[in-house]
Amino acid sequence: MLNPIALLTQSFKHDALLSPALPGRHGAWVQDRAVAAYLGLAIGDALGATVEFLTPREIVQKHGVHRDITGGGWLRLKAGHVTDDTTMALALGRAILAEQGQVRPLAVAQALDAWMRAKPVDIGNTVRRNLISFRRTGQAEAPESEHDAGNGAAMRILPVALCTWGKTPEAVLAAVRHQGHVTHHNALSDAASLNLVQLLHDLLSGIQQPDKLQERLSAILHAHPVFADRGRRRDNPSGFVVETMQAVWQGFFDTQSFEDCLVDVVNRGGDADTTGAIVGMLAGARYGLDGIPPRWLRALESSVRTQCEQQALALLAYSPGLP
Ligand SMILES: [Mg+2]
Repeated sequence: MLNPIALLTQSFKHDALLSPALPGRHGAWVQDRAVAAYLGLAIGDALGATVEFLTPREIVQKHGVHRDITGGGWLRLKAGHVTDDTTMALALGRAILAEQGQVRPLAVAQALDAWMRAKPVDIGNTVRRNLISFRRTGQAEAPESEHDAGNGAAMRILPVALCTWGKTPEAVLAAVRHQGHVTHHNALSDAASLNLVQLLHDLLSGIQQPDKLQERLSAILHAHPVFADRGRRRDNPSGFVVETMQAVWQGFFDTQSFEDCLVDVVNRGGDADTTGAIVGMLAGARYGLDGIPPRWLRALESSVRTQCEQQALALLAYSPGLP
């Protein structure tokens, strides 16, 4: 396995293209992409929650093609409400903003612990176990575990991507680990989170060509071949971050619009709120606010929408990449 820093440096080889001064990529354009990424996370979560834990066949029987934010699902959500994917990202974002744009493990652990005390509608087992352990020990970093390869750290990574755009590869990797290890101290979780941050940074920098974006996949597949889908369609993805990322990458690279991308991914069922949330961040950063269907924006619960919009801009303001 490659040393992560070497891998990161190698996979940043087209960073010459990532100059913040890229023609046309002015501040307002980047802000649009950042806000769209945050709204995309919440929309994917709200859309996918309806069909979480269903198989694709069950979704067809129940909904045909699921393409509207209707609430329901096993959590019996109100239409437009979101789950832990979005509310944990917002809690993480608040912790970063309170630390002037820095990702500090203790601040993250305290924020996520406060989030858990507020009785969220949903919480993953790994998140719960390691936050309870933090309460007992005061140790912000969970012990390393090969079993903690769930998608819970990757799904809330967006605030880290927004405040680290333009930072050095070493600083980006440190921030990814600081936030992830509070609940998921695991190499596969770290690799998935880093890949998402790299893709988001590319998209914020105006890189749109699929072959350029796919260079980020080559790096992670080389370091961790377990992520390879071997040409098989990933339906019914579980909470295992490898299956999550396979569904996300397939949906992201095989579609050409925000709507088609999210519809593709959530209709695969399984952990659909989380795959929807993750691919929603990427699709928002790729297609911008104009790409988001107005009916989905209108459906999103208004306080969630406002928090996403405000946090996106506030976090981005700490990013050295902003022109
Ligand atoms: Mg969820």
